[in-house]
Amino acid sequence: MVFKNTLKNIKTYEAGKPIELLVRKYGILPKDIIKLASNENPYGTSKKVLDSLKQNISTVSVYPDDSMYELKDALSLEHEVQANNIIVGAGSDQIIEFIINSICDKNSKILMSKTTFAMYEIYGKIAGATILKTKSGRHILDEFVVQYKKHKPDIIFLCMPNNPLGESLDKDDIYMFLETIDKNTTVVIDGAYQEFAKYKNKNKHIPPKDLIEKYPNTIYLGTFSKAYGLGGLRVGYGISNPNTIEVLHKLRPPFNITTLSLRAAIEALKDKEFVQDSIKNNFKQMKRYEQFADKKGLKYIESWTNFIFIYLEKNSKDLAQKLLEKGIIVRDMTSYGLNAIRITIGTKSQNDIVLEQLEALC
Ligand SMILES: *Cc1c(COP(=O)(O)O)cnc(C)c1O
Repeated sequence: MVFKNTLKNIKTYEAGKPIELLVRKYGILPKDIIKLASNENPYGTSKKVLDSLKQNISTVSVYPDDSMYELKDALSLEHEVQANNIIVGAGSDQIIEFIINSICDKNSKILMSKTTFAMYEIYGKIAGATILKTKSGRHILDEFVVQYKKHKPDIIFLCMPNNPLGESLDKDDIYMFLETIDKNTTVVIDGAYQEFAKYKNKNKHIPPKDLIEKYPNTIYLGTFSKAYGLGGLRVGYGISNPNTIEVLHKLRPPFNITTLSLRAAIEALKDKEFVQDSIKNNFKQMKRYEQFADKKGLKYIESWTNFIFIYLEKNSKDLAQKLLEKGIIVRDMTSYGLNAIRITIGTKSQNDIVLEQLEALC
């Protein structure tokens, strides 16, 4: 078979290791496995969501409402935008795919930070686009400006806060940057962790309403996979001006999320308390990792998310493997060329165990 040339230099996305792998390979019981590698919500999801799913379980036999009227209605209330500003995807991953495929071919350029969410590059390369990266891992807007002026990319991705590093920039700095970008370049603000950033510091919060009103060449991405605890149901969304949203819809396959996913996302938006409690606990527990790193003299990046990125002295790959054998899954950053680990902040009892192991292994 002959495949597209552009696929040759794409590395398959390496997802966080699943619980099933540890059960199979090390015979560890699922209840003893601590999975802190994919930034899921360690508190699960809202009980209201679970109850609603149970009540609606029999709807699996019917296709979902393809207009997603109720979810868009709820999202438009949440973000103070109109339904025609919104597109819903099977995770915000799918919206990234729509954006790139609606804009890029082999003559296109996409600019991103050196160390950021891997799917921008993967979808970019599938489309045949040239991938440009800034020099620094973290987002440095001056570096973006230099590259922008030099290459005039078709798309710029800003991951705010950034996965896997955890840093975030002030809204005002982002807005100042956007002033310098002309309308032929689309700027995507990936807000997968905005709920966390907003809680910690209002200056980091980028409200999509504000953003798209001021800058029609921007697209905001949100997801239910992180703070809302619905990673397994695959729901994300994009917010932009109605024209852009209309174009993106041309790429959307019908029924791209499931009947139950739709139900869950609608219910999840109603339970603010669950989300706020999760976020509050997240930052409380994160302090323990910061204190641990300080005590050990390990560097870490101040995080606006539900994970922490810690640079290590010992080999990160070995450490991740040793933790794995103890039933603890974290993300080794060797594949990013960094001797570091990214740990999703767990529940108190999970963190007790992880910190005890780290204490012994670091
Ligand atoms: C998790 C994540 C996403 C998308 O997650 P979905 O589950 O596809 O909605 C997008 N961007 C970043 C930076 C993420 O960390």
